[in-house]
Amino acid sequence: MYEMVIGLEVHVQLKTRSKVFAPEAVTFGERPNSYVSWVSLGYPGTLPVLNKACVEAAVRLGLALNCEIASTFFFSRKNYFYPDLPKGYQITQEAAPIARKGQILLRLPDGSRYPVGIERIQLEEDTGKSLHDQDPFDTLLDYNRAGIGLVEIVSEPDMRTAQQAMSYLAHIRRTVRFLGISDGNMEEGSLRCDANISVRPLGSDTFGTRVEIKNLNSISALGRALEYEYQRQVELLRAGQPVLRETRTWDGNVTVPLREKETADDYRYFPEPDLPPVVISTEWLGELQASIPELPDRLFDRLVTEYGLTSEDAVLLTEDRPYAEYFLALLAEGVSPKSAASWMNGPIRAYLNETASSMERFPLPPHRLVQLIQLIEQRKVSLSAAREKVFPHLVAHPNLHPVEIAQEMNLLLLHDENQLEAWISEILSENPDKVEIYRKGKAGLLGFFVGQVVKRSGGKADPKEVQRRLVEKLA
Ligand code: ADP
Ligand code: MG
Repeated sequence: MYEMVIGLEVHVQLKTRSKVFAPEAVTFGERPNSYVSWVSLGYPGTLPVLNKACVEAAVRLGLALNCEIASTFFFSRKNYFYPDLPKGYQITQEAAPIARKGQILLRLPDGSRYPVGIERIQLEEDTGKSLHDQDPFDTLLDYNRAGIGLVEIVSEPDMRTAQQAMSYLAHIRRTVRFLGISDGNMEEGSLRCDANISVRPLGSDTFGTRVEIKNLNSISALGRALEYEYQRQVELLRAGQPVLRETRTWDGNVTVPLREKETADDYRYFPEPDLPPVVISTEWLGELQASIPELPDRLFDRLVTEYGLTSEDAVLLTEDRPYAEYFLALLAEGVSPKSAASWMNGPIRAYLNETASSMERFPLPPHRLVQLIQLIEQRKVSLSAAREKVFPHLVAHPNLHPVEIAQEMNLLLLHDENQLEAWISEILSENPDKVEIYRKGKAGLLGFFVGQVVKRSGGKADPKEVQRRLVEKLA
């Protein structure tokens, strides 16, 4: 029996206005090489200037992951040659990272918790992008990304299952989203993950040789790559062969060798001479601490224990901050937690999925939705008409009051007693046989009668009221 040992290196691209050591804007998907300065291109004579917002983002992340924040830190040069790195070195951190010794509690799908240590958090700059698939002969280079602020989070080798690693990555993703420091989007590369994995006989207290897997572009890819690599390493050990210390890449189905792993010596790290050490005063640290919002896992616990929501609902509601905030805004306007959760994870989620949109771009302000929810509570529209008919229209015309829409679509429920009684009598006299069966004890037929009356009314009869009257009449 073997077990896997996993440590993750996660890179978070910072959503600051400008790059970490250079003045140009942070962008995504713009025309190649249109956001590039002499600094990012490494022209001789240019000097880096540290972006304070990047330091603040890294410190806030360190605090959110329960790290010790350095009172002083400095940058180092990591020297290597690669076309996407025009300076010939990356400004990163080595000896004195911004934060270290953190600890988080993973929330696993079965509801259990699992602790994972954070070894270090460091601030560095991103590289440019090599485009291998744009031209049949040449690799093209886009330096828009070069110099964007990156935070690297290195975990301790504490994880033992692929599921734990996936939960870890999800934890980091929702944390950076709640802090508002990154989109945390793996497809677009604003969140990237390299997985270190080794295997060892179960019960052993030493680690085996590790392999680093790159090119994991989703949480599920991470899970599948780890399972694959675990099998591969176990088979090697069973066959009496060594696991090589190497970097491999996930191609979607298998891991394939990329290169032998460099060691730290190859990089000739030394302190960056163009940037002075940074001091984080207690006062500044206090301000940053105060700027940390309620974090997703605390909110999750609150949703489950205080509001009685299911953990499925709570998971969805704590994925990202604007979404959680919208939910909280509904509560603040007096909507019940259950009703708010079912609107969020029902029609709103479906709308965002269908339009491939995000909560930031959701057109309906919370108070507008609350007006619709009130119409349901006042029995002016039925729940199904509100969800299926009024809501889609309202999203397209957020300036209208839902009652205007309901009126225009002829969906306002009719509370005319005589008319309701007339429809009910019609339906009952048209179905004498069913009435008899119902009276003999087949209570399930009630739904049939309600449905028929609502249908006869053209959807204008309130199903709840119809049901109440039917029960009375058929008693
Ligand atoms: P490198 O410079 O080689 O990438 P780092 O210190 O940046 O090294 O990252 C090492 C990562 O590998 C950490 O996440 C650590 O937890 C993990 N790790 C270290 N040893 C092992 C091991 N034997 N098996 C699995 N993961 C390991
Ligand atoms: Mg590393």
